[in-house]
Amino acid sequence: MNAITIRHLDVWFGNGTERSDAVSDVSFDVAEGESFGLVGESGSGKSTILRAIEGIAPNWSGEMSVAGELLSKRRSHQFYRNVQMVFQDPYASLHPRQTVDRVLSEVMRLHGVTDIDSRIDKLLDDVGLGTGFRFRFPHQLSGGQRQRVAIARALAPEPRILLLDEPTSALDVSVQAEILNLLVDLREEHKLTYVMVSHDLGVVGHLCERIAVMKSAEIVEFLGVEEMRKLQATDPYTRHLLESSIHSLR
Ligand code: ADP
Repeated sequence: MNAITIRHLDVWFGNGTERSDAVSDVSFDVAEGESFGLVGESGSGKSTILRAIEGIAPNWSGEMSVAGELLSKRRSHQFYRNVQMVFQDPYASLHPRQTVDRVLSEVMRLHGVTDIDSRIDKLLDDVGLGTGFRFRFPHQLSGGQRQRVAIARALAPEPRILLLDEPTSALDVSVQAEILNLLVDLREEHKLTYVMVSHDLGVVGHLCERIAVMKSAEIVEFLGVEEMRKLQATDPYTRHLLESSIHSLR
């Protein structure tokens, strides 16, 4: 079964003569439990696709079915429980005056999760922080630890799908692999489906089974991770992208 089906998605900013198309006639499926990557140059529309799914893109047309729900302009409460997003910058995404405990308990309360107290301990364990971090403020955490909190927050409502927008690119190189490995483990443990945006093919190759390559608002090619490693791309832009990242793919 598909966790996500996207058909003929267009997303644009502005209207009339001011209109600019960020995503143009994009279609793809993501199977339940799959990890799917969106790659391509900056400005090609990758993040906008995630935003359209999440319901924070202004104008869109086409058809999107996500977590068993055919999406309209408004998302249901259940949708926001099923689909959670992790952003690039863990510094910007956590409120500076809220403890880890507050961040996690507020999300759970909002989604009607019971047993909040023990769930927080479990979540902190799941993301490799442990309960000692429960009453810390963001300024008392490293970048990697903050991203672990952001991931715990995304997991708090027990979602089925995580939308990951460059989840490691704001972190020190030494920390990136730790967070990627954590995401690999969490997908398995929580039976999650991932859609990950990254400009880094090494990162995508580590986490994803299949990728779509984007250029100028369109998907130019789909590739399995093995084809990606063997540079078996037919589209010239994809070949160029793979050849320039060959070292991070092997
Ligand atoms: P990517 O994630 O591939 O780097 P984006 O999805 O962020 O690309 O952007 C796709 C296009 O949409 C770009 O041309 C970008 O300038 C434009 N865009 C993104 N956000 C906005 C916005 N809020 N207002 C106007 N244009 C935007």
